[in-house]
Amino acid sequence: MSKRYNTRIIKLNYSYLLSEISGVYGVHIRTVRLWVKEGLEIVEGLFPYLVNGKDLKAFLDKRQNKMKTKLNDNEIYCVKCKKGIIPLNNSVEIVYSGKTIGNGIKDFMLKGICPICLTNINRLSNENKLDTVKANFIIIREIKKCS
Ligand SMILES: [Zn+2]
Repeated sequence: MSKRYNTRIIKLNYSYLLSEISGVYGVHIRTVRLWVKEGLEIVEGLFPYLVNGKDLKAFLDKRQNKMKTKLNDNEIYCVKCKKGIIPLNNSVEIVYSGKTIGNGIKDFMLKGICPICLTNINRLSNENKLDTVKANFIIIREIKKCS
């Protein structure tokens, strides 16, 4: 699995050699080259390659934010707490959007409440995942919007 990299140790006004990045994070130089392929910006026209500290930070932060929002089946993302969370009492409402994702499969929103900050939390889902939804949440009610 991908590990997390502390991006606060990056010097923003420093340009790193790929080998230095490899040293800072204790990762193989091939991993750093892979990051370049994935979109880590290098300073144009220079060899050996240099990476601006601020580009390195932006790249890793973005990458890790993407990882962070991967939710478990029983979680809904809370925008206030900035993490996936099991809704209050495990309970959700299913609200059909009136739209389909194709093949007549309806999509719906799972609506719950964050047990920490009591904000309304939502997760988009669809009928294909209904079994998983029912296995993980208590469904208080289903609201079918007329379309
Ligand atoms: Zn919250």
